[in-house]
Amino acid sequence: MGSMRMFEIAFVGLKPGVHEFNYDLDVQFFKEKTGVVNDGIAANVKLSLDKNNGFMLLKFIVGGNAEVNCDRCGNPLKVDLWDEFNMVVKLTEDPQKANEDEEDADIFYIAKSESHIEISDWLYEFVMLSIPMQHICSNDKNGQSLCNREVLKKLEAMQVKTDEQQGNSIWKGLEKFKNN
Ligand SMILES: [Zn+2]
Repeated sequence: MGSMRMFEIAFVGLKPGVHEFNYDLDVQFFKEKTGVVNDGIAANVKLSLDKNNGFMLLKFIVGGNAEVNCDRCGNPLKVDLWDEFNMVVKLTEDPQKANEDEEDADIFYIAKSESHIEISDWLYEFVMLSIPMQHICSNDKNGQSLCNREVLKKLEAMQVKTDEQQGNSIWKGLEKFKNN
């Protein structure tokens, strides 16, 4: 876990006000987080930390890109990451209970005696949330889909087959009624 120390912020030593941090998250980071080598994500997170008396406002701005597969044809695609996330970190006497009672996922409690916050979990979570849920090949300049045509043809053929099968079973179901 040694290299994760760079994701600890020693906020006690910071003056009140806004502080900027910048994190380039590469294959090493995702490997340490998940145990799996995933070299398809190159993320950059800009964090601004606004230190106040008793609480801090954290704003994470996610950028970079990720390699995904087209939902339609499976071709590899590169998608841009872009999203923002806010967290409020509050200092309290009993953070465990406060975190259990808190319903707002954007509020996190730490002990008043704490001097560091560890942000690697948030970095990981926010990068994952920034990957678009749907990704489909774009169109070329003539408006033609850049999807893999070979694969689409095969998928279409499979679709026709299942439609036929379903059609047959519906027909059989109806015949039963006709005979009655
Ligand atoms: Zn595609």
